[in-house]
Amino acid sequence: MQREVIVRLDDVRDLSPRLEAIWRVLERNGAAVHLGAIPVDVTEPYAQDLLARADRSPVPVTVQQHGYRHVNHSSGKRKFEFDDERTFVEQRDDLQQGRDALIRLFGDRFDRVFVPPWDRCGAHGMRALAELGFAGISVIATSSAPDHPQVPKVLMTTDPVQWKPVAMHRPWDQTLREVQSTLDATGYAGIELHHEIMDDDAAQGLDWLLGQLHGVRYPTMREKAQRG
Ligand SMILES: [Zn+2]
Repeated sequence: MQREVIVRLDDVRDLSPRLEAIWRVLERNGAAVHLGAIPVDVTEPYAQDLLARADRSPVPVTVQQHGYRHVNHSSGKRKFEFDDERTFVEQRDDLQQGRDALIRLFGDRFDRVFVPPWDRCGAHGMRALAELGFAGISVIATSSAPDHPQVPKVLMTTDPVQWKPVAMHRPWDQTLREVQSTLDATGYAGIELHHEIMDDDAAQGLDWLLGQLHGVRYPTMREKAQRG
């Protein structure tokens, strides 16, 4: 069975030292780099830096749209930028502005896959993504985001962070076991990362984990979404 892994980086704004460190780990392991960029936070100079870095990278580098402002609009306990409390039109306008900004900033490196903040998206958001011609949505496998026939899902199966009570990376051998059992069961695993909370130990843990995955392919989200 072909074994495939996708690694996603969330909350990208600029080429920060921590992003650079994780980017190098991915390169060392031959993994495609997926930059989930927050449209309103990426300035023109930030984008130029990221593009120049991407051009020097020996692995495929693509940009995804991570929300629009990355703010919570939900009155409930769970955070949502794109839930069903705001109108369809409000959400579509946000998604469109974000999409247009990333097309302008990143051109073809932007693959038109949407990564909703907190891995959550409601039915209005899904419909808006379809209407705006998004190539897909990437969410964690346990996400409540409804299915939409025109918006393929690129699932993340593993989040190495335990978020509560304080965010910390679980032991990397535990995360590896989770990734390997998912790979054994389905031939695919998706790992979502938050590089800005990854210290040197976490970067080393990730490097070690990827080094244990023998014979896996690292497709891009674009490729995976196209396959449906
Ligand atoms: Zn985020």
